[in-house]
Amino acid sequence: MEFETVIGLEIHAQLKTASKIFCGCSTEFGAPPNTHTCPVCQGMPGVLPVLNRKVVEFAIRMGLATEATINRSNQFARKNYFYPDLPKGYQTSQYDKPIIEHGQVEIEVDGATRIIGITRMHMEEDAGKLVHDEREPVSYVDLNRTGTPLLEIVSEPDMRSPQEATAYLKKIHAILRYLDICDGNMQEGSFRCDANISLRPVGQKEFGTRTELKNMNSFRNVQAALEYEIRRQRDLLLDGGKVVQQTLLWNPDTGRTEPMRGKEDAHDYRYFPCPDLVPVELDDEWIEAIRATLPELPDARKKRFIAEYGLPLYDAGILTGERELADYFELAVNSGADPKKVSNWIMTELMRELKGEAIGTCRISAQQLAQLLLLIEKGTISGKIAKTVFQIMFETGKDPEIIVREKNLVQVSDVGEIMTVVQQLLEQHPDQARELREGKEKLMGFFVGQLMKQMKGKANPAMANELFRKAIFGDEQQ
Ligand code: ADP
Ligand code: MG
Ligand code: ZN
Repeated sequence: MEFETVIGLEIHAQLKTASKIFCGCSTEFGAPPNTHTCPVCQGMPGVLPVLNRKVVEFAIRMGLATEATINRSNQFARKNYFYPDLPKGYQTSQYDKPIIEHGQVEIEVDGATRIIGITRMHMEEDAGKLVHDEREPVSYVDLNRTGTPLLEIVSEPDMRSPQEATAYLKKIHAILRYLDICDGNMQEGSFRCDANISLRPVGQKEFGTRTELKNMNSFRNVQAALEYEIRRQRDLLLDGGKVVQQTLLWNPDTGRTEPMRGKEDAHDYRYFPCPDLVPVELDDEWIEAIRATLPELPDARKKRFIAEYGLPLYDAGILTGERELADYFELAVNSGADPKKVSNWIMTELMRELKGEAIGTCRISAQQLAQLLLLIEKGTISGKIAKTVFQIMFETGKDPEIIVREKNLVQVSDVGEIMTVVQQLLEQHPDQARELREGKEKLMGFFVGQLMKQMKGKANPAMANELFRKAIFGDEQQ
């Protein structure tokens, strides 16, 4: 029996406001425990929340960027549950009247484009953090994160593979970062994802029973967890078993999912409208003013990169995945370098050296990368030497011209100088020279390699090839 995978994602994006959603406390990460708190976010009795206008603005930005409906009237609700790090005993969230509904994003997997629906997005507050110290028989609570604004983004169950889920996740991540409303740092928990996944026999209309996977803090984890869970559910169903609706924790160390708790239903939370907060009423004028400030978004930029710079779809997709990377690319191109060459160097040399670090940490500026490519174009250095220069640039941040001068790496394009070495080598290796003359073309590589070794890679390779040919065959083959 063949199964189809069905995936829907719930993303929690921490909004990049300076203060919390219902009080003036700072949202800064990493402060000493409980220093960014006040009676409101500590959940003291008798206090009243005041909604942070920036949170609403950021939610609207995301709604506009995903072609969603902005609900002109929306409302906060209390979601009741007890956690030691949620002092009020309820989370202030939105329920039946969320701020955003019916959005969509485009994803691309293996060259095919698909639309993934966004059911809803709502504003809510984050909980605090429990700190467990293995050496002590106690747990601590840190309320610094309590009241940090979140945007929960709930997708339709529209994804059909872990690849599509990852592509969707990356697209949402990119849009949030382009909009500058979430820093997207998965390690620090500013961008978290729960994945709902079920299988159904191919051809069946109804969805199967789903499980919810939590605790995935990297794109790679999400992909691995979903792949594992597909295998687990599949084996279970093939054995005649039933999937139990439950919440599972992904353990990246063992590479398995582990049961966490039975899945609660919405009615378990006893949602009700928050009596402390008036309904949020939005006017069109404000929404239009926000729309006017939207930047060029990843998909639009990708399409423009293809049209304007003639890049392949694949290159354009990677380069526009991060706003800073796309900016870097365009700056290098505007400094005079060839777009496809810039793209190649970014996607191979630069990304390899960055090892996943952000482009902002790179010591080579976009202008310097362009200068390096122009040195190759002018014939000052060979492509091979350029890689050496690139390494030094990456480590030191020095200009390529300075490195080329200091290390004496200028390419030798002097016919006489190269011809001298060509003749020496042909004399030193008479047997290979004869075989080459008799048509063993492979030996050309041997001779050019020897020459490069002797000239420390600085000979103009095209010229070296040409001169060997000339020395062996005379002018008849030119
Ligand atoms: P809850 O509030 O319990 O988390 P929701 O109904 O809001 O549940 O759905 C949460 C997520 O689960 C959504 O992203 C939705 O697309 C997804 N989902 C719902 N049913 C299924 C299913 N059978 N298989 C996979 N995903 C599903
Ligand atoms: Mg949920
Ligand atoms: Zn506070």
